[in-house]
Amino acid sequence: MSILPNHHHHPAAIGRHYRRRSHRVYAAATTPTKTRPKLEKLTINPTPLITPPKLDDPSLKSTWSHRAWVATGCTTVIASLAASLIGSIDSHIWLEPILSGFVGYLFADLGSGVYHWGIDNYGDASTPVFGSQIDAFQGHHKWPWTIIKRQFANNLHALARVTTYTVLPIDLIWHDQPVAMGFVGVASGCIMFSQQFHAWAHGTKSKLPPLVVALQDGGVLVSRSQHSAHHRPPYNNNYCIVSGVWNRFLDENKVFEALEMVVFFKSGRRPRSWSEPNSDWTESTVESPAMAD
Ligand SMILES: [Zn+2]
Ligand SMILES: [Zn+2]
Repeated sequence: MSILPNHHHHPAAIGRHYRRRSHRVYAAATTPTKTRPKLEKLTINPTPLITPPKLDDPSLKSTWSHRAWVATGCTTVIASLAASLIGSIDSHIWLEPILSGFVGYLFADLGSGVYHWGIDNYGDASTPVFGSQIDAFQGHHKWPWTIIKRQFANNLHALARVTTYTVLPIDLIWHDQPVAMGFVGVASGCIMFSQQFHAWAHGTKSKLPPLVVALQDGGVLVSRSQHSAHHRPPYNNNYCIVSGVWNRFLDENKVFEALEMVVFFKSGRRPRSWSEPNSDWTESTVESPAMAD
């Protein structure tokens, strides 16, 4: 939000600059109203892909609205899991809710891969609904190290908001269905926290909590080595960021490449991964200030 390439271009400053110019030049040629929309567009753009954010950049910090969204997202996830647990106790059915929770965990990884593939390959910052996510992921490919400098709620709030909107109505309708609630609770929880698992996949082993390293090495959470392959050429694999269990299957069977062909023949849209290498995808040569994996 604040990584404007030219901080000194405050509207007032532009106004002064314009007034000075307007003594000499025709006023109609560069009116302040003409420059304003451009400024507004820059201001709402969350990560202009021009310069990497600095380590203390406010765009990496959590705001109270980020924290509020994460809190509501967690509340809806916990409500689903509690409804599943209470329903299981009441009905003495245990196996099905546990199995459906496991299916939810597998589904979340697949869902994270499909979503990540979609926003990596199609659309741009101006795309409705997904624009800010697309822009953020493009920024992530250029400066992958920034994800570990991003504060927790800042990293999770977008998915927490989607989780709240999606899961809250489901909780209200199916709260007495322990099997459905088991699936919804685990799947939405894993999807909401996928950006945290993703951030851990960018971490350095020695700096991560030992439990996280154990879960990554055990294949419960997406591993550092698997995800680092996503950030290397040809930039068209390992999209899943929950557990990564689907990555090998999807990549070996060229599932996303098949989907890209379908999209191309149906709509003529080319995925970004076909035009590799280009500067939109490749990691910036601006060095990470602190880390190497
Ligand atoms: Zn990506
Ligand atoms: Zn990444």
